[in-house]
Amino acid sequence: MATYTIRNCSGFLGFKMTANELSIQVIRSKRRKKTVQAKLDGNKLLVYMPVGLSEKEESELIQKMKTKVENKRTRKALNGDDYLEKRANEFNKKYFDGKLVINSIKYVTNQNTRRGSCTPARGSIRISHELAEMPKWVLDYVIMHEIAHLEHPDHSRKFWNKVNEYKYTERARGFLICKEMEKNDISENGEQ
Ligand SMILES: [Zn+2]
Repeated sequence: MATYTIRNCSGFLGFKMTANELSIQVIRSKRRKKTVQAKLDGNKLLVYMPVGLSEKEESELIQKMKTKVENKRTRKALNGDDYLEKRANEFNKKYFDGKLVINSIKYVTNQNTRRGSCTPARGSIRISHELAEMPKWVLDYVIMHEIAHLEHPDHSRKFWNKVNEYKYTERARGFLICKEMEKNDISENGEQ
């Protein structure tokens, strides 16, 4: 079994370096046929793979496993904070007389082009982790937008009238349009 560790490998593998950068240890095994597995050991990612892959194949697999693990860590870190839940409950009371049933509201890492989504039937809401780094009034607008879908699943005038009760809606939508995370479509508001 050949084992080696790549450190500070940003140039070689094209990784984005961050303060909590994972170090990678590749463990190649002849017994392993096709499967690739990764295990996190503190700040070290152990990647188990078969022998005989090209450098390109290996680096692609490493990148894939690394992204997966990092996304999981990001979600865990973000969801350790109860801001989303607290805010959603506050807004529920303030704008909906506490009538909404919010079963879950969580950050997810798989919708980079969408700010969030809502499944009204399940009462579950997902917010893009990218919002966590944006101003609070933008995050709050997205919370307001998604919880409002529990009452109005569409983007009707009634929906927007409700969402516009949150006073920074217009400003937050402008912000998100610039980030291409919101459609630049004024007619959505029922206006031309
Ligand atoms: Zn919507």
